Amino acid sequence: MTLHDDGHGNRPVGVAASPAGGLSLPGPGPGGVSFHEMWRELLPIGRSSASGGYRRYAWTGADGECRDWFRAQAEARGLAYEVDRNGNQWAWLGDPAQGDAVVTGSHLDSVPDGGAFDGPLGVVSSFAALDELRGRDARFAKPLGIVNFGDEEGARFGLACVGSRLAAGQLTVDQAHRLTDGDGITLPQAMAAAGYDPDAIGPDPERLARIGAFVELHVEQGRALDLSGDRVGIASAIWPHGRWRFDFRGEANHAGTTRLADRRDPMLSYAETVLAARREARLADAVATFGKIAVEPNGVNAIPSLVRGWLDSRAADQQTLDTVVTGIQQAAREYADAHGVDLDVVRESFTPVVEFDHALRDELARILGKDTDLKVPVLGTGAGHDAGILSGTVPTAMLFVRNPTGVSHSPAEFAAEDDCVAGVSALADVLEGLACA
Ligand SMILES: [Zn+2]
Repeated sequence: MTLHDDGHGNRPVGVAASPAGGLSLPGPGPGGVSFHEMWRELLPIGRSSASGGYRRYAWTGADGECRDWFRAQAEARGLAYEVDRNGNQWAWLGDPAQGDAVVTGSHLDSVPDGGAFDGPLGVVSSFAALDELRGRDARFAKPLGIVNFGDEEGARFGLACVGSRLAAGQLTVDQAHRLTDGDGITLPQAMAAAGYDPDAIGPDPERLARIGAFVELHVEQGRALDLSGDRVGIASAIWPHGRWRFDFRGEANHAGTTRLADRRDPMLSYAETVLAARREARLADAVATFGKIAVEPNGVNAIPSLVRGWLDSRAADQQTLDTVVTGIQQAAREYADAHGVDLDVVRESFTPVVEFDHALRDELARILGKDTDLKVPVLGTGAGHDAGILSGTVPTAMLFVRNPTGVSHSPAEFAAEDDCVAGVSALADVLEGLACA
């Protein structure tokens, strides 16, 4: 998933590093065995011994080690390896110039102290699925590509999916050149330091035009599959998602000498708004979160003059999201009025719903439905992905693998080995159905 600013926290107490890699038994078949070996190789790269989480930020040493690993996997399988103008890595079986290629993959970078599965599960499963297909003597009628998109999480430069956005023309070269990390290092400087040419970056329509279908396998970032009892699911859509800034302005005053009746305390209306957000989200089966707050003057003995809270809200469809956010704003205004507080609400960002290609989604369901042992529920997600970026240009689909904790962007993120192997098998089936004669 792709939010750059929520890599911290949300870690259940007592769930530390141990689940993050605990795959112990080789699975059946060549896909399962190679999955296990690849997983073990990747596991130590960029892992913090202090937190047990991963710090694989774009264009750093840990990211470079992951990228070396990708190249080694491609070359070990005799695949043609290339890096595109935006630093995304590709491994090809067959000639992509033939067109109508089937591509799978994900990303290898992480959020701060992220889990082992978000991203790497898709890349490792891609190579393992190819091994599985070779074990089945599959005959490929179309070129097959495996991709590692660069800088998906946006942990370093604050913008998610930079590699796929650049390729799809959803991020201009000027915008990309202005991206700067917390140490003041620009994206071009970071790419150059990692051995890439930042002057080469830009839209890559010819490359994307060669792709007939892109399928990204990803660990589920929620508990829908755990609750339904399924190992693997198909994505329907990425929920529309927005961020709003709520500024509650009151009057700073002495916490000891100001009578309650005389106060204009914006903290009260903010606090009531947090509860309203929870209520509105629950009623609509959506999510709404105030996860970031700034207080002025921020003194322990001062009534605040300003409380600024950021709302992140997502829902299955636009109308539901509108209902939730409108409800929260109305409640906030009532509470502000009641306390003599001024309120301004600004929408800071918005991403509309991403509907994955319906024909491709139906094709995946048909392919996977042939195996009666494997139920394949179709589910939406509140998280962004490279697949979402590409979906405007390329027919795109996603597979999710069960995550029993539902936790993501934390070392507690987990998928059982049996489920990972089921994911490899499902991806192999899908690739065979799409790319093989
Ligand atoms: Zn991801």
